[in-house]
Amino acid sequence: MTAPHERLRARLGDPALYLDDPADTAPYGRDWIGKYEGAVPLVVRPRSTAEVSAVLAACTELDVPVVPQAGNTGMVGGSVPRAGEVVLSVERMGVIEAFDEASATVRVQAGVVLEALQGFLAERGCDMPVDLGARGSCRIGGMIATNAGGIKVLRYGHMREQVRGLEVVLADGTVVEGLNILRKNNTGLDLKQVFIGSEGTLGVITRAVLQAQPAPQAFQTALAGLASRALLPPLLQAARARFPRLSSLEFVDGATVAYVREADPELRIPLAGEHGSYVVIEEECAAGEAAGEAFAAGLESLLEDGLIEDAVIAGSEAQARAIWRVREAPTETVSRRGLTHKFDVTVPPGVIPAFLGEMETLADGFPGVRAVLFGHLGDGNVHVNMAQEPGLADADFRAMEADLADAIYGAVHGHQGSISAEHGIGVMKRAYLPLARSPEEIALMRTLKAALDPKGILNPGVILGP
Ligand SMILES: Cc1cc2nc3c(=O)[nH]c(=O)nc-3n(C[C@H](O)[C@H](O)[C@H](O)COP(=O)(O)OP(=O)(O)OC[C@H]3O[C@@H](n4cnc5c(N)ncnc54)[C@H](O)[C@@H]3O)c2cc1C
Repeated sequence: MTAPHERLRARLGDPALYLDDPADTAPYGRDWIGKYEGAVPLVVRPRSTAEVSAVLAACTELDVPVVPQAGNTGMVGGSVPRAGEVVLSVERMGVIEAFDEASATVRVQAGVVLEALQGFLAERGCDMPVDLGARGSCRIGGMIATNAGGIKVLRYGHMREQVRGLEVVLADGTVVEGLNILRKNNTGLDLKQVFIGSEGTLGVITRAVLQAQPAPQAFQTALAGLASRALLPPLLQAARARFPRLSSLEFVDGATVAYVREADPELRIPLAGEHGSYVVIEEECAAGEAAGEAFAAGLESLLEDGLIEDAVIAGSEAQARAIWRVREAPTETVSRRGLTHKFDVTVPPGVIPAFLGEMETLADGFPGVRAVLFGHLGDGNVHVNMAQEPGLADADFRAMEADLADAIYGAVHGHQGSISAEHGIGVMKRAYLPLARSPEEIALMRTLKAALDPKGILNPGVILGP
């Protein structure tokens, strides 16, 4: 019997629609962290909704399983094939189609890269308030499919909060056009919500209408050092009260900063001495001296209250970037130094100090593993990176994943947290879904999947196991 991808290739006909040379397809089979890798027999690269529709209709008819892919920066293994599925990449659907000034909404194709959209909106005095380290690679379709969060969730919410309308192609090729621009449109089921966060399992997102925000006139950015991680919860409480337009409150554990420094001596930490914890504080504000003075006064009061022991305020964009490097460098360092088991979890903010301690103790029980800890303090979102140290063989490190996951998700569950704060479930966390969702919720997810994709061709095995 002919292989599924060969049936599809024969049906597509036009070679401009796909890649099939292994040298071209290989990059689509390896994820950003280098953890998930699968053979890619065929990459289909449609340029329009109509082409996506034709491809999916053929896939359903010919029983060809498909992995939708956008920027391939996903962290949970959902964007690359696992069993020879065809990749459907939206990378050639990169058009920013329209900007409606009155509503400040922008209509985009799914392949638009976040940074390109941010640049487009900046020229119009606006901003896309979901921002994340992968901004130069992640694409709007993938961000919506994973309901991405990032560094401004505290003020603006996840991707879900920015989506006004959506166009989705179902597994059988049906185009569901819901490109609404209205804020108020209370007309029955809000169908787009079913697809936001569905990780490519229910349909392929082809276009979206997103709500832009007025670009802040200015930012105040500071890096603060805390004597101990125990001060993180009271700092969060105080920061909310003292910085009314707080947009980011990010933390990096002191031991993690030391680890990054050791691996990358070039990294400049714009703060003297060593601290138990580091926090990036950013507030959106009006231009002018008064805003700067108010921000400085807020920091001063944190110092007086003993919540921080030192702080530096960025005096230029370059200095603000240097501060943000402290927060973003650990992600790059761990992936450069070796393999990492990544756990993106939420715990109630009050238990973050205890939880970080538990993660360190846990790593101590796995020789050759280092806990690299940072995250979004404002949302209680901890990125637990269990990183491979030199000397530990790849196979031995990989074999530890299940034991680490059991222990970490068990601890999270014990604290009434969530096993996935913002990265989604993918294949990495599907076995733990029952820790986060009730049997009835999971059954309803299966009902929806069966109704929208009866042959199960869309991202099989993602979120829900077989
Ligand atoms: C350095 C770095 C920092 C990151 N920081 C954050 C962060 O702060 N917050 C956060 O939430 N995430 C973060 N991520 C994870 C990742 O960037 C996000 O999950 C992002 O939204 C994925 O977008 P993508 O375009 O790369 O999607 P992909 O990785 O290509 O796909 C992700 C999932 O969406 C599905 N999908 C892709 N396109 C479509 C489509 N058009 N229709 C339907 N399904 C589709 C895929 O099948 C897959 O399941 C980070 C990643 C990196 C590498």
